[in-house]
Amino acid sequence: MVVNKQRPLNPKTYAPKPLAFVNGVPLFKDAAIALQQLAAGMKKAGAGNLWLNSGYRSYATQVAVHDRQVRALGLTAGERLAARPGYSEHQTGLAADVSALGQGCVIQVCFAKTKAGKWLAANSWQYGWILRYQDGQTATTGYQFEPWHFRFVGVEVATDYRSKQSKSLEAYWGLSPAPNY
Ligand SMILES: [Zn+2]
Repeated sequence: MVVNKQRPLNPKTYAPKPLAFVNGVPLFKDAAIALQQLAAGMKKAGAGNLWLNSGYRSYATQVAVHDRQVRALGLTAGERLAARPGYSEHQTGLAADVSALGQGCVIQVCFAKTKAGKWLAANSWQYGWILRYQDGQTATTGYQFEPWHFRFVGVEVATDYRSKQSKSLEAYWGLSPAPNY
């Protein structure tokens, strides 16, 4: 499943199930299990303790998130960070915004420079997760660099994605770029 600014959820109020919780935050169950494995791998590697800041967000929650960012930043900059309701990858239950306890840069671009951010970018594929919004891909993904936002695709796809040095799911699956709605 690919959700972007050209490919909304169908229906727009879609809700995944079953859900499971990681530090109190919901994800689609398979993704929750894989995120716990990712956290265990990160800890074992000495890269820190993973924290799930945001996982599944309902249509109604996304209404509030989108409103808040657009009010704070204006429409253009706000929509590079927050999707319109029905267009958020978080609504699939397969997207995770993560941080590491005590490493700072929570949901900030500087997370890429933390020990955890570096480890995740290099190793998340082994657990079925890809860095969804890479640096320099805004014209394809419609989003700024988000080193905290990972998408669960399963180990098989994540391994192939990495081996092809893919930069976006759109390019990987031969889909049209989706810079705008
Ligand atoms: Zn996110």
